[in-house]
Amino acid sequence: MERLQKVLAQAGVASRRKSEKLILDGLVKVNGKVITELGTKVSRMDTIEVEGVQLTKETPVYYLLYKPRGYISTVDDEKGRKTVMDLVPEVSQRIFPVGRLDYDTSGVLLMTNDGDFSYLMTHPKFEIKKKYVAKVKGIPTRDDLKKLETGIELDDGSTAPARVKMTSSDKKTNSAIVEITIHEGRNRQVRRMFDAINCPVQKLKREEFANLTTRGLNAGEARELTRHELKQLR
Ligand code: URA
Repeated sequence: MERLQKVLAQAGVASRRKSEKLILDGLVKVNGKVITELGTKVSRMDTIEVEGVQLTKETPVYYLLYKPRGYISTVDDEKGRKTVMDLVPEVSQRIFPVGRLDYDTSGVLLMTNDGDFSYLMTHPKFEIKKKYVAKVKGIPTRDDLKKLETGIELDDGSTAPARVKMTSSDKKTNSAIVEITIHEGRNRQVRRMFDAINCPVQKLKREEFANLTTRGLNAGEARELTRHELKQLR
């Protein structure tokens, strides 16, 4: 038996928080009866409806995709661009990306049908670390690197402390490689941080998500997470 909001979140209905609201708003029925009690436990034998639509009882699945550049991180795209859905195996579950990577960013992207898991992986309060490697135009000064590290003022507020390391720089091409580890996930955050120090990103890869990497995969390939990896993440 599981709590109703957890079952809704795992079924990909919404985050756990939003699922709680659906319950409190009287939009969820269990075995034909409206339930507004958040602690209600349900089992797989129960019939659950959200706003009149019955949940299919899906098995949760978890994939790690090595997203290449040139793919959009949504389930479908109105402009007809290639999406990450084109790269994961066809499964009967309705999977979706955990957070986003920009069209031109490559690297680790998790995919699942488990809304609860997705919430745990993306909400900043859980401080899941994401490590990016950026090739930037220009060579950041020590002062620039310090700013990235301690927090940079962006349109949507100051960034949280980050781990930053310049691993190489080349005066001839006027470019540098910088590793940056953050636990926030604002829209285009890394690109905006480097724009703020006047070193625009030319190439960006997410090397690590939590402790998961693209090791063993070619760009465009996906694999299921192992039970051990899942246990470490949760
Ligand atoms: N930050 C960015 O700017 N882009 C990404 O794709 C991810 C993080």
